[in-house]
Amino acid sequence: MPVVPRRDLESLPKYIPGRTVRGAIKLASNEISDGPLPSVVETISRLTPTVNRYPDGDSQVLRERLVRDLDVDVAQIAIGCGSVALLQQLVQALCSPGDEVLFAWRSFESYPIVTQVAHAVSVTVPLSEGHGLDLDAMLAGITPRTKMIFICNPNNPTGTAVYRDELARFIDAVPENVLVVLDEAYKEFVTDANVPDGVQFVRARSNVAVLRTFSKAYGLAGLRIGYAIASEVVCEALRQVCITFSVNAIAQVAAIASLDAGDEMFERCRSITVERDRVRDSLIAMGYEVPPSQANFVWLPLAQRATVFTDYMLDRKLIVRPFVGEGIRVTVGAAEENDLFLAAAREFLGVARPLSVKSCASIE
Ligand SMILES: *Cc1c(COP(=O)(O)O)cnc(C)c1O
Repeated sequence: MPVVPRRDLESLPKYIPGRTVRGAIKLASNEISDGPLPSVVETISRLTPTVNRYPDGDSQVLRERLVRDLDVDVAQIAIGCGSVALLQQLVQALCSPGDEVLFAWRSFESYPIVTQVAHAVSVTVPLSEGHGLDLDAMLAGITPRTKMIFICNPNNPTGTAVYRDELARFIDAVPENVLVVLDEAYKEFVTDANVPDGVQFVRARSNVAVLRTFSKAYGLAGLRIGYAIASEVVCEALRQVCITFSVNAIAQVAAIASLDAGDEMFERCRSITVERDRVRDSLIAMGYEVPPSQANFVWLPLAQRATVFTDYMLDRKLIVRPFVGEGIRVTVGAAEENDLFLAAAREFLGVARPLSVKSCASIE
C-alpha cells in the first residue's frame, strides 16, 4: 500500500501568493516597498554569528517589551511565526473535529485553509453591498457548533473596516464560549478614529483575541513573526500547540528593535496612508468603484473584468493581485509606483469602456 495523504486535502483551497516577475513592480502582497527600518537592519545583521544557538522558546523579552505598550499581562501574549501560524494554532487548540469557524467571504485567504487543516469546518457569510463585513448576518450565522469567529479589521482584500460601536454590539451578542478573533494585520494603517484598537475588547472579555503582525507595517514579512493578545487560557493553549523553537531568534530581536523604532514606522505608515487616499481618489475620479480603505491597499470590484485588468497591468510590468470573477487588490507602493499604476488604470478604461461587463466576460 502506498503512502496516502489525508483524502480531504484534495479539496484544500490553495494559497495563491502574489507573483514576482523580474523587473516588474510588485503591488500584489501588501508588503512595504521600503524594506525594514534601517535601525532594525543594523541590529539584526550583528546576530548572524549566534544562530548555532536555539532561540528563546517563550520569546520572553519580546513579550515583556510588548506589554509595555499594550497594558495587558505578559501571560496574555503569545508569539508565533507570523499571525497566519497563530491563526492555525488557534483552530488547532480550540476546535474539535467538526466544530465551526465563522468568517466573512471574501476575506483573508488563509482562513479556510487553517480551518480545514485543523479538521474544523468553515462557515462563510457574504460581504455587504459595500464590500464590508456584515456583522448582523455573521451573528445570524452562529450555531451551537460555532467555536470561533474571524473578524479581519480592516478586511483583506477589500480594505473596509468595522467601527467601534458596531463591533462592541457584535461582541456583546456573541455567546461567551465562542472566541472572537480580531485580525488586525493592517492596524498601523488605520486613520479613521472610529476604528477600534481591538485590545480594548481583550481587556474586558475572555472570549476575544487580537492578532498582530510585524510583516506589514514593520516590513519584516520574510522573518515570520506576529503575536496574539488574548486571555491567559487561550495564550497557554496557543503555546501548547506551537512548534517548539519555531519563532527564530533573529525575528524576536528584529521585532523588539522594530517596536523601539515605532515613531519612525508610524511616520512611514503616514506617508503610505496619504498615498492610499490619493490613489483611491484618483481611481474614483476616473470612474472606478473603490470602497474606502483603512489598509495599505485598495480593492477594485471589477467582477468579470478582474483577469483582463490583471493581464493588462502585467503587460505594463505592474503586478496586482487578482481574485478571479471578484476583483483585484492593489498594494499602495511608493509615489512613483502608484503613478505608474494610475496611468495604466486610466489607459485600461480607454480600452475597456466600449465593452460591457458581459462582453468582457466572454473575453475571459
Ligand atoms: C498579511 C496578513 C496576515 C499576516 O500574515 P503573517 O503570517 O503575519 O505574515 C494576517 N492576516 C491578514 C488578514 C493578512 O493580510
